[in-house]
Amino acid sequence: MDDKTKQLQTIKDEVINLSASPLYLERINNNAFPVIGEGSHDANIVFIGEAPGQNEAKTGRPFVGRSGKFLDELLAFAEIPRDSVYITNIVKDRPPKNRDPLPNEIELYAPFLDRQLEIIKPKVIATLGRFSMQYIMERYGLDKEVDVISKLHGRVFETNMPYGKVKIVPLYHPAVAIYNQASKETLKEDFKVLKTLI
Ligand code: URA
Repeated sequence: MDDKTKQLQTIKDEVINLSASPLYLERINNNAFPVIGEGSHDANIVFIGEAPGQNEAKTGRPFVGRSGKFLDELLAFAEIPRDSVYITNIVKDRPPKNRDPLPNEIELYAPFLDRQLEIIKPKVIATLGRFSMQYIMERYGLDKEVDVISKLHGRVFETNMPYGKVKIVPLYHPAVAIYNQASKETLKEDFKVLKTLI
């Protein structure tokens, strides 16, 4: 096992044993899995969603349900192979009934995300939805730029991570496009922007 795989495995083990989480019992009672993330450990782009949904918690894999199908379409549209990127979420366990993650849940799980980024060292971080947008921008020095996602989506923000320069691109969450054709087109345009950065 290479070094990055070992370090990511350590994170996985810690999350599996995170009995302090308010979402832990929900996971155990539903025979569900935490969703740590998947993809290339040397990815140029890391996508960060919100939290696992039902299909994700059932399989332990990110974005495999309806939003995932649309994410796959967007990646194909931009000619970005799914296995060349890394896909994860801020919150690693499913909130009951897919409710929004709570601030204390984000606070508890976000340090795992920070460590994943430090290990993978992507050049581009694409946030999916407002929760990961707000967290990443505030965490990595762009707090003054935070605004509503309708103003920021598809824009490229540069920042310095502890390991070097990174571009942060806020995107709408693919779930918003399931019933909304206009958002679908917007997401496609924004994925074209992503493609130019790698
Ligand atoms: N929505 C998310 O934010 N993440 C997933 O993994 C699936 C759906």
